[in-house]
Amino acid sequence: MQKGLLLVVSGPSGCGKGTVLKEVMQQQDLYYSVSLTTRAPRPGEVDGVQYHFVSKEQFEKMIARDEVLEHAEFCGNYYGTPRDAVEAMRNEGKNVILEIEVQGALKVKEKNPQALLLFVTPPSAEELKHRLIDRGTETMDVINDRMRRAAEESEIMDHYQYLVINDDLDTCVKEVHQLIQSEHLKVSENLDLVADIQKELKEMKGE
Ligand code: 5GP
Repeated sequence: MQKGLLLVVSGPSGCGKGTVLKEVMQQQDLYYSVSLTTRAPRPGEVDGVQYHFVSKEQFEKMIARDEVLEHAEFCGNYYGTPRDAVEAMRNEGKNVILEIEVQGALKVKEKNPQALLLFVTPPSAEELKHRLIDRGTETMDVINDRMRRAAEESEIMDHYQYLVINDDLDTCVKEVHQLIQSEHLKVSENLDLVADIQKELKEMKGE
């Protein structure tokens, strides 16, 4: 069976990548990897749904046991990807999405060169700040910290292979679908099929 794709999606906090991915997942069967975090849940967030909320001690234990595929510190908290679920799903042929920040994304690419790195950006810095303020879940200090982090992350954008601008949600969703479809058409993603066709053609030539 063909192994599932590993799609890594990053973008500044507040760029709307969560909304884009939610929409994509309503139309396509993808496995969304639920991360570990040491940050406190926001109102409405449920353990095991948006994140696995863990203590710093639990997080460090999982790292020591090599149960985390990648991890990074972001604005004073740890975030990480549980390894087992991602591998199991990909081995079942399911495409897996990691919604993670840039440092983690680069680590994933290092370990899995075939991973696809997609960066979602807001149409402008001003729009990003408005969205963070409108979300109403963070204090102004946290918002400013996230804006600083967005500026740092934008420096790493050119390590990504794909870019979508989240101006219009439908367009953005369509672009992500197209990206996944085209990846499935790559010869390198279809080596078993290619080998079968080559074998059949060779056999027929010999008849
Ligand atoms: P938030 O606190 O807004 O939910 O997430 C903050 C940042 O952490 C976002 O950029 C989000 O994509 C990133 N993040 C979430 N989960 C992970 C993870 O497992 N690993 C890494 N490296 N970053 C993550």
